[in-house]
Amino acid sequence: MKWDKIIKAHPKSKEDILKAKEIRKITLNIIQRKYSEIRLSTSRYNDTEISILEQDSVRSEILDIIETICLRAWEKVFGGDLPESTRETIGNMLSPFGNIESARKENKIEMIVHNVTIEAMTFLRKANNDVLPRTWSHGRCPFCGTYPRLAYDSEAGRQLCCPICEYSWRFPRLKCPYCNNTDHNLLGYFEADGINGIRVYFCKKCMYYIKSIDTRKRRALDPETDDILSLEMDNLALKEGFKA
Ligand SMILES: [Zn+2]
Ligand SMILES: [Zn+2]
Repeated sequence: MKWDKIIKAHPKSKEDILKAKEIRKITLNIIQRKYSEIRLSTSRYNDTEISILEQDSVRSEILDIIETICLRAWEKVFGGDLPESTRETIGNMLSPFGNIESARKENKIEMIVHNVTIEAMTFLRKANNDVLPRTWSHGRCPFCGTYPRLAYDSEAGRQLCCPICEYSWRFPRLKCPYCNNTDHNLLGYFEADGINGIRVYFCKKCMYYIKSIDTRKRRALDPETDDILSLEMDNLALKEGFKA
C-alpha cells in the first residue's frame, strides 16, 4: 500500500488513513510473532470448486486469528473493549462480495476489521501458498473466495486481483468473473475523460463490473492502492447502474 499516494489523493482523510496504517503495522507485528509457522488445517485437492476459506475448519481457524488480532489492535488504537459485533463484521468482510470499499473507513469497528483482515489474510495466504489449487478457472479468489474489484491487463492477458489476500490469477478477458457470461453482446467497457489506462468492464447479464488497469498505459502500483486511486471510476459505474 502506497500510503503517501493515498493521503495525497484524499488529504481530508489523512488522520483516518494514518490510523489505518498504524493498524496494519500492529497486525503485521502480531502475526509475524505469533503465526509465522502457521499451517492451516486444510483438506485440499478433493474439491476444485470451493475456496480454501470455505472449508469450515479453516474458516473458524481464520476467524479466530483475525478476531484475536482485532482485540489487540482495538486496545492499542482506541482503548477499551472490543464491540461484540466484531466477529459478525469479519464474517461479512470475508464473504464473496465482501464489504471492501476502501481504507478510508470512518466507523471504528469497520476500520479495525478492514485493516486487520487484509493484512492478516495476505500473510496467511502467502504462508499457505502451497495449499492453493494448481488449476483454477473461476472468477473468485481460490484462497478466500472473494470476487475481484480490479484486474491488470497486459499483452500476456488479464490477471484478476483479490482485494482481501492479494492473490492474483489469470482469467479470460472476454468473460464475466461474476457470472461466467461470455456473450460479447452483453459484455462491454467504458473509459473516462482524463483518466488514462483504466477501464470499467461490465456485464449486462449480471450487472457487475470490474476496473481494469492497462499496464502498457499506466504504471501498476499494487491492487489496493490502484483500487483506491481509481474510486472515481467506481462512482461512474455505480451511476450507470452497475454493482461492485
Ligand atoms: Zn483472496
Ligand atoms: Zn456477469
